[in-house]
Amino acid sequence: MSEEVAVAGGGLAGLVVARRLAEAGVDVHLYETRDTVGGRVRSRHRDGFVLDRGFQVLFTAYPAVQRELDLAALDLHTFAPGAVLCDTEAGTRSVLSDPFRDPRSAVASLRNRHVSTSDKLRTLLLREDLTSRDPSRFFTGADRSIREYLDSWGFGEGYVENFVAPFYGGITLDRSLSTSKHVFEYTFRALSEGEIAVPADGMGAITRQLAERARAAGVTIYTNEGLTSIETDRGGGSARGAGPVTFRTTETRREAQALVVATDPRSAREVTGVESIPETAKPSTTQFYALPQRDRIETGRKILLHTDGASPNVVVPLSEVAPEYAPADRELLCATFLGEASLDRDDEDLAADTRRVLSAWYPDRSFEALEPIHTDRLRFAQFAQPPGVFDDLPSVTAPDGSVYLAGDYTAWSSIQGAMESGAEAASAVLAGEPVGE
Ligand SMILES: Cc1cc2nc3c(=O)[nH]c(=O)nc-3n(C[C@H](O)[C@H](O)[C@H](O)COP(=O)(O)OP(=O)(O)OC[C@H]3O[C@@H](n4cnc5c(N)ncnc54)[C@H](O)[C@@H]3O)c2cc1C
Repeated sequence: MSEEVAVAGGGLAGLVVARRLAEAGVDVHLYETRDTVGGRVRSRHRDGFVLDRGFQVLFTAYPAVQRELDLAALDLHTFAPGAVLCDTEAGTRSVLSDPFRDPRSAVASLRNRHVSTSDKLRTLLLREDLTSRDPSRFFTGADRSIREYLDSWGFGEGYVENFVAPFYGGITLDRSLSTSKHVFEYTFRALSEGEIAVPADGMGAITRQLAERARAAGVTIYTNEGLTSIETDRGGGSARGAGPVTFRTTETRREAQALVVATDPRSAREVTGVESIPETAKPSTTQFYALPQRDRIETGRKILLHTDGASPNVVVPLSEVAPEYAPADRELLCATFLGEASLDRDDEDLAADTRRVLSAWYPDRSFEALEPIHTDRLRFAQFAQPPGVFDDLPSVTAPDGSVYLAGDYTAWSSIQGAMESGAEAASAVLAGEPVGE
């Protein structure tokens, strides 16, 4: 029997497209290859700890986040604006804050020796410029690297190396700042207009909520069943909506009027043959640590940025921000290590680096009891986003006929990009014709 619409992949993009179609009255069947949906946004619960899949955060100002999620139900816990800049060589920490959003830290921030007063003023001008522009146009037009962009604004080396490199290194998984300036502009604006947060029950609560809403709208979700190939597409090369499309899963042969491929970029490229789907990966490794309550560090809910080294790039006081992330007698921290090389390092080697930097940043404290409890090595965390990449990404209608794409790689690598892509794919399926080439 032919289904109306099949969706392959239960990450953010797949869940959004499935729910939107079901809400429009379509009979939707979603196939997820793993035993659980969520894709790159999942959490596991172990011994009272909440362990996200890598260190991830939700930017509350993202338009798709506000549109697709019930934020109140997620019980969000917010990071404080700014960061603590930590220097291992000098053994110092200093607060860099946002004087408009966090006036109490403004005085400490103005005295921050890492960042000159003129760079702080430039930051305010940059913010004024970015908040006055139309965000829907951020990913178009001339492009260059984040580093070149900041140079053109006249930012000093201290600001770029001590703050932007570790901070945006965390967001783009690229501390060299060779990522497209479009990502910087969009996220900088979102940071100016909203909060950075995690749900009380972990980032996985986001995709759990989307899955619950999809099921409530009538979507049937099959786990442990993945798309393996597309066999025939009678709509191929002709008008949209001409379906049906026949495809194979790990279980059986199926047919639907339309198929949305919402898998990760590499498997979407393999199964659809669309060569503009990017396959170069940005890897990262996140290690989670338990610390006895008596040894806790208090950062004022700020991220610790490693200014003079990248191993690790950042240390995050997760349970200080969201106490639900750890049992009452322990603290949960995590540290992120960037790049391919981080994937091959063993757990104890990574933990030794984190203990070493924390001991330098907090010379009066001991971190002997810092215990690594889990390590996530993610080979494909995001797709690489060098300058110019956005001109060549596929649209959701890139495959022929009744096959559509949905995934961060049709927009940009983020929660916003994935959800927006899902919404766009749903509109394209409903319209039965190509949207936005
Ligand atoms: C460590 C890390 C940190 C990040 N930090 C942030 C952050 O702080 N903020 C932010 O906005 N974004 C962040 N991102 C990016 C964001 O998580 C992703 O852009 C987004 O989750 C991608 O969603 P997606 O639905 O496009 O793809 P995916 O999440 O990859 O979903 C694809 C789904 O398809 C399934 N699948 C694969 N093959 C098949 C098949 N053949 N058949 C059926 N199903 C299949 C997969 O199992 C998966 O469930 C981060 C990502 C990582 C990994």
